[in-house]
Amino acid sequence: MAAFDDPAFDSHERVVFCHDASTGLKAIIAIHSTALGPAAGGTRLWSYANDDEALHDVLRLSQAMSYKNAMAGLKFGGGKAVIIRTPDFAGTDAVFERYGEFIDQLDGDYVTAEDVGMSVEIMEKVARRTQYIAGLSRQAGRAGGDPSPNTAFGIFKGIESAVKYKLGRDSLAGLKVAVQGVGNVGYHLCKLLHEADAGLIVADMDPQRVRRAMDEFGASSVPLDDILAQKADVVAPCALGAIINQRSIGGLETTIIAGGANNQLETSEDGQRLHDAGILYAPDYVINSGGIINVASEYLGDTTETEVLERTAQIGGRLMEIFEESAASDRPTNEVADEMARRIIASAA
Ligand code: NAD
Repeated sequence: MAAFDDPAFDSHERVVFCHDASTGLKAIIAIHSTALGPAAGGTRLWSYANDDEALHDVLRLSQAMSYKNAMAGLKFGGGKAVIIRTPDFAGTDAVFERYGEFIDQLDGDYVTAEDVGMSVEIMEKVARRTQYIAGLSRQAGRAGGDPSPNTAFGIFKGIESAVKYKLGRDSLAGLKVAVQGVGNVGYHLCKLLHEADAGLIVADMDPQRVRRAMDEFGASSVPLDDILAQKADVVAPCALGAIINQRSIGGLETTIIAGGANNQLETSEDGQRLHDAGILYAPDYVINSGGIINVASEYLGDTTETEVLERTAQIGGRLMEIFEESAASDRPTNEVADEMARRIIASAA
């Protein structure tokens, strides 16, 4: 494993390899930047083809967290961790507790929460050994628990901004939104869009989730491969990454891409392709930052649910700034957002 030579290495401050023979734990914690505050970002539990792939993933994800936290106005830097799901991974209490001890040794320079493969229940086990953790059970009136409703609320505010900017409309009523993936985030987003009288087209690999969106929100459904190419006012990717690419862009019939999935662009050149095609792209880590805003508030314990909603609603204004700067400088929105994030981090450093 050559961390410094990995293409995702971006002057990361620290990369910690954690191994415990007795529990079989193998994990990597990457701290990209602590310029703005402790590095915050979730822990992903995932199977990788090899350790290099895990290292690449954690380097890439931790840098994205620096940008996301900076753009969300949080006093947190960027970090991420992966627990490698080896073929004999036991998933015992002991393995998660040992992982908690590794986090604790960093003395608060890294704060974790759940990401793919983790759950509130697992995080409670990790929390037996460290206080540098969020994403635990919710306490009445405080932020906490599943962040996806707040993520969806931020995306909803982002869609409102994009629609105002691109279509000159103050309301979503009567507009058509195609939602790819109606899991945790997609479901809550559909609920908000339905309440705003937008029409919904959905696709999901899970037929029960599609059925729920049809029954509860009057959505229509289309096959998985057709959802991005719908003639809709907005396409909201809420499932996988890398779905916006050279192949899919040619088939797009929308003028707005605004959804919650992480890493929507396969490459940063795809941002330029969207820009050239006149399609407005709401940078993913800006529009989906409601989740980390929720998690950060839970960790600091300084905010009520109402304040979390107020902070999340500001995503709309932040995106508007990006859209305007993109138009003024004739540059893609993803580049504008990256540059803004880097500026915030550099000024703190
Ligand atoms: P989820 O697993 O609950 O939902 C994802 C849904 O996408 C599932 O229902 C799955 O069946 C569906 N899906 C998978 N492949 C698909 C395909 N090819 N076509 C259509 N549907 C497909 O996950 P989630 O928590 O809702 O997260 C969705 C996305 O948002 C992820 O990219 C995640 O990283 C990102 N995100 C989530 C949060 C959060 O708060 N949960 C915060 C920020 C970003």
